Amino acid sequence: MSLMFTGIGVSRGVAIGDAHLVRRNQVDVSARKLTKRAIPGEIKRLRQAIKSARKELLATLGAIPKDTGGDIAAFIETHILMLDDSLLTKKPIETIKNEQCNAEAALQQQREELSKVFASMDDNYISTRIDDVNHVIDAVLRALNENNETFGGEHWKGQIVIADDLTPADTVVMRNHGVAGFITETGGQLSHTAILARSLGIPAIVGVHNIREYIKSGETITLNGESGLILAEATTEMLDSFRQQQKAHKQQLRELSKINDMQSVTRDGVRLQLNVNIEIDDDIKAMKRVHADGVGLYRTEFLYLDQSAVPTEQQHFKAYTKVLRALKGAPLTLRTADLGADKLFSSVLANARHKKNSNPALGMRGIRLCLNDTSIFIPQLRAILRASSRGPVRILLPMLTSTSEIVQSLSLIESVKDDLRSEGSEFDEDIPVGGMIEVPAAAIAADQFAAHLDFLSIGTNDLIQYTLAIDRIDDQVDYLYDPLHPAVLQLINHVIAAGRTANIPVAMCGEMAGDPRYVRLLLGLGLTNFSMPPNSLLEVKRCLIDSRRVRLRKLAQSMLQATSWEEQQSLLTRINSN
Ligand code: PEP
Ligand code: MG
Repeated sequence: MSLMFTGIGVSRGVAIGDAHLVRRNQVDVSARKLTKRAIPGEIKRLRQAIKSARKELLATLGAIPKDTGGDIAAFIETHILMLDDSLLTKKPIETIKNEQCNAEAALQQQREELSKVFASMDDNYISTRIDDVNHVIDAVLRALNENNETFGGEHWKGQIVIADDLTPADTVVMRNHGVAGFITETGGQLSHTAILARSLGIPAIVGVHNIREYIKSGETITLNGESGLILAEATTEMLDSFRQQQKAHKQQLRELSKINDMQSVTRDGVRLQLNVNIEIDDDIKAMKRVHADGVGLYRTEFLYLDQSAVPTEQQHFKAYTKVLRALKGAPLTLRTADLGADKLFSSVLANARHKKNSNPALGMRGIRLCLNDTSIFIPQLRAILRASSRGPVRILLPMLTSTSEIVQSLSLIESVKDDLRSEGSEFDEDIPVGGMIEVPAAAIAADQFAAHLDFLSIGTNDLIQYTLAIDRIDDQVDYLYDPLHPAVLQLINHVIAAGRTANIPVAMCGEMAGDPRYVRLLLGLGLTNFSMPPNSLLEVKRCLIDSRRVRLRKLAQSMLQATSWEEQQSLLTRINSN
């Protein structure tokens, strides 16, 4: 029977593949058919898990206080002995070989067989000993799950991963394994996991509550990352329709690639800057494919993603010069590490000073964390400045809330410059320093901020989160995320005006700048510098180069005055029609 689910489509594209359920705290024991080549690896995985389970039990045994009664130690010793029993170890290995299945399924099969045997025993005491078997099997399954931290393997290729939640790091791993798409039970459209999925072109849907209760690993899943529609075990007709959608999406991309070489100028001659946001190496290729004018936002915190330690100055430097080489003289805006909230990675957490707290979006993040711990900030600033001798680089400070943070950051940059000068290292003496406007306080005080900075960049993802008091990673309040909320539009308008008065450039690098529904409105408000995920650039370019700013200006002003949702929608329709 076909089942239909809906969620929040966060990354466009249609994917069809077998479901792969991920349960972090609960091991997925459903059977997966493995290729013959994968069998030795799977057996090795099981042997390693048995070894780890034994190690864990031995550690528990060693930790039992000497004066504890003998029974407890004997109990654990029995479990250790059971791990050597061929019924628990050799038999599942045979199952893996004979049935070409995964270790978890082989262990589960053995659990079920042993349960039947124990249940049929007359002796009550012996029949309850199945509990020991279960404990030991669970220990091995847990170890398998931990060793699975690599987050998948070759068998994930072409599959659709379904999990409770996924981190940005998981998204990168999934891309490396060629996952066709993913679905999560929680998460919002502005989570960094969703942003990365868009940038990597992985079709994805979030906020599908309890979907793992209805779907088994191995079932065929079809998802449309735009509409948020998911089908399990779709009929042939349904699959045909999804394949048509898949084809149409690819055709649309081919059509768009034709405007690659066209100039980014509106019909009435307004020159636009269409930049990209980049996070990881892959984005560099995507950036070249769409002929971006430059990088408007490099989320450098992603350099901390899969590191066991915070990156060194040299690692930063290497990453930045690599992008500069690819940019061939086009500008690179390097945002200093915006760590914290959903980007507090293990390398930073390993430092006892940085703890996850109950309200991370309002806690130690972005510039606060960097100023609080200059051992993170200074190596990055040194690397950015050194890289500025290799090409046009701009510094962008994240999460500013007060001018004192700007003053402190500028003074730190000056002292790093002094050090580099005395070492004889080259850097751009006039490197521009800009600030992210992503907190309402910063937007309201944009005039004061502009007095200290060389440019401003509006981060609507956080600006909307903080203005409307909605957690950007909470799917339950995702419906309240509204870029057209009058308060948001007033703030954006105010920041653009502040930049104009101070005669400094204002860009936008939040997801709103890459959303074809809103870019003409933004142009009407006076924005000409847009930075977005590479995959959005051509569609945005199409919308903007087909427009006339003179016409949009008046409509955008009316939008600021609109008093109802209906009025806004009718204005938006006019703005987006030619
Ligand atoms: C933003 O907040 O709009 C932004 C671009 O920064 P991030 O999404 O990385 O928080
Ligand atoms: Mg932000």
